[in-house]
Amino acid sequence: MFHRGARLSRESVFRASAITTDGLTFLEKFDVIVVGAGPAGSTAAYLMARGGLKVLLLERGKSPGEKNIFGGRIYSHVLKRIFGNFGDEAPVERYVVRESLGLMTDSDCTLLDFSSRRRGTRDASSFIARRSRFDKWLSERAEAEGALLVTGTRVDDLYIENGEIRGIISAGESIDADCVVDAEGVSATLARRGGLRSDVLPGQVKVGVKETVKLSREQVNDRFSLEDDEGAASVFIGYPAGYLEASGAFIYTNSDSVSIGVVADPVKLSASRIEVQRLVEDFRLHPFMRRLLRGGSVIEYSAHMIPNSVPVAPENLVRGNFIAAGDAAGLFINHGFTYRGVDLAMASGEAAAKAVVAAHSSGGYSREQLASYHSHLAEAVLPELERAERGADVLHNPRIFSDYTHLISDFMSDLFSIDGFGHGSVSSILSENMKGKVSRIRMLRDMLSAYRKM
Ligand SMILES: Cc1cc2nc3c(=O)[nH]c(=O)nc-3n(C[C@H](O)[C@H](O)[C@H](O)COP(=O)(O)OP(=O)(O)OC[C@H]3O[C@@H](n4cnc5c(N)ncnc54)[C@H](O)[C@@H]3O)c2cc1C
Repeated sequence: MFHRGARLSRESVFRASAITTDGLTFLEKFDVIVVGAGPAGSTAAYLMARGGLKVLLLERGKSPGEKNIFGGRIYSHVLKRIFGNFGDEAPVERYVVRESLGLMTDSDCTLLDFSSRRRGTRDASSFIARRSRFDKWLSERAEAEGALLVTGTRVDDLYIENGEIRGIISAGESIDADCVVDAEGVSATLARRGGLRSDVLPGQVKVGVKETVKLSREQVNDRFSLEDDEGAASVFIGYPAGYLEASGAFIYTNSDSVSIGVVADPVKLSASRIEVQRLVEDFRLHPFMRRLLRGGSVIEYSAHMIPNSVPVAPENLVRGNFIAAGDAAGLFINHGFTYRGVDLAMASGEAAAKAVVAAHSSGGYSREQLASYHSHLAEAVLPELERAERGADVLHNPRIFSDYTHLISDFMSDLFSIDGFGHGSVSSILSENMKGKVSRIRMLRDMLSAYRKM
């Protein structure tokens, strides 16, 4: 007999789905199969199970989040909406109360640092988490609502009969479902197979590399001026990925370690013959970083692809009874000063769940019945993505990553250098530093364009 929330092995699900005894009627056919127990998949599974649907959540990892990598920061708005005081139970490392944007050259770092204790830490708009703990927690919420989570199971293909998607195929066996939600992440193999997306081209993804550096809790607090559950998030442009446009680096504080990493364009990396591992190494060894990381040891290293832009028209994220969410749908924002994928994955999982539950109530899962997915996405996710797309031009301006970073660094160096022979005015120092690097007109145009687009 199947109990809601029970843990079943992969074998028993496949066996049971083929048996039609009374006790296993639930497993005969699922209303929905969700592929991937990342933030998009588990959020969708949680809300659909809560809406009364029979949900099967399949995850290839031994445990959700086991191999999922990201920088470290999650914006809380979706969690607050769905779970209220999520901080009471979610595995939060630290709440972000300190934000910095760094302009780096190989020797300098100009930091715009914002630190606020205006609100309690739990009201912070973002927090730092480890995916191995966070994804597991979220999938357990879905299980507690009755979704059936089966781990260690890779979905190989969609189960298609007479041109219609009837479920999924794993290890040569099929499982039926009325609807399939693809939340498998950036590879989007099923989304391509189901006709939602074309092949992911090299220019449509970035590569992210991350290291976790072990420090004590006290070292993290002292070096980043933090207390208790307070956390810091910093992003950097210029060095080390510098001079490669739309690339950057980050550092996030966990409770007793820090995550550092670099995001770069693989096409530009290969054209410049730069290995991404070298960029992380250069970043870790930068004088500014060396002091923050002193005495720490690298305990984790990982690399992963990140969607770079929205390669599919959002209205094409549904085809028949097949729907894509999260990275599989290309939902990611890189402003240069924020990297956002997890909250968008959860928001799209929420939108997919609303559409699927409504379709279920209306008696079918046709494209028309699932069309509300687009309108739910349009409420929050799509306007932000469109703004980010417009702003993306700014990130592809090479002057931001090289000329201006150097200009500001040289300007700051001169501004704070006193040699006793007379210090020029601020404007004369700026003019002196701009000579031969960038014209005033060019700089004004770039500033105006950035202001308008971002
Ligand atoms: C270096 C780096 C730094 C980042 N930093 C941040 C950050 O700080 N903040 C932020 O918000 N975002 C960040 N992101 C992006 C963020 O990680 C993603 O946008 C987010 O994880 C997308 O969630 P998802 O649920 O769509 O996909 P994923 O998190 O990729 O989850 C997909 C799940 O599906 C499983 N799966 C895949 N294929 C199959 C299959 N065939 N069968 C069964 N299971 C399958 C996977 O194992 C995985 O558990 C970063 C990404 C990288 C690479």
